[in-house]
Amino acid sequence: MKVDVVFAAGGRVDFCTEIHGLITQGLINHPFLACPRIAVPCYVLVKLNIVEAHLLSAPNIDHNSFLRDRSITLSFPKVSDDDGLYTHLSGNPISINPRAKKLIAHEMAHFVDARLDQSFGYNDAARPSDPALRSIVYHLWDSYIDGRLGPLAPYNLQCRQHWAASRVPSLLVERAWNAAFTTYRDLLQAANDASRRQN
Ligand SMILES: [Zn+2]
Repeated sequence: MKVDVVFAAGGRVDFCTEIHGLITQGLINHPFLACPRIAVPCYVLVKLNIVEAHLLSAPNIDHNSFLRDRSITLSFPKVSDDDGLYTHLSGNPISINPRAKKLIAHEMAHFVDARLDQSFGYNDAARPSDPALRSIVYHLWDSYIDGRLGPLAPYNLQCRQHWAASRVPSLLVERAWNAAFTTYRDLLQAANDASRRQN
């Protein structure tokens, strides 16, 4: 697989070579690609957007254009100790966030599940239009991803349960973590059930 990275937005890119390496290696060596059912593509173009942290609170990946032109767009808050591409601890110069590798692994996992794993059955048309329901689906999908990432997971189960707590029962987040729902359809079904129980 050949991976290109273009710095699509965000002005001056600090540590350009290192960031380029983190993203290409993060995809080429992604643990989910080792699964035999994954259709590893010949080429992926990663467009990186670096966004001021007050405009974007957490990284995200947009893979809608992949089937059209093999590109995906990775957006990162610029500087934040938690979820940013860089950290800037007081008194220290700016540096690459040591967590960036894990955060990239998590975002790339959404891409691998949705676009390279037929059996996951991602379906754009099935994506819930209701923001509350969509948020539950993402809480469960995030937990399912981090549960499989092992040492590359950016967050542990307790964090995932804590963030989901207002919308999703802890037990459900734990079931997702333990791969009780292995398809997009399963995740949607579980989210729908959780949402109905809440209302
Ligand atoms: Zn996620």
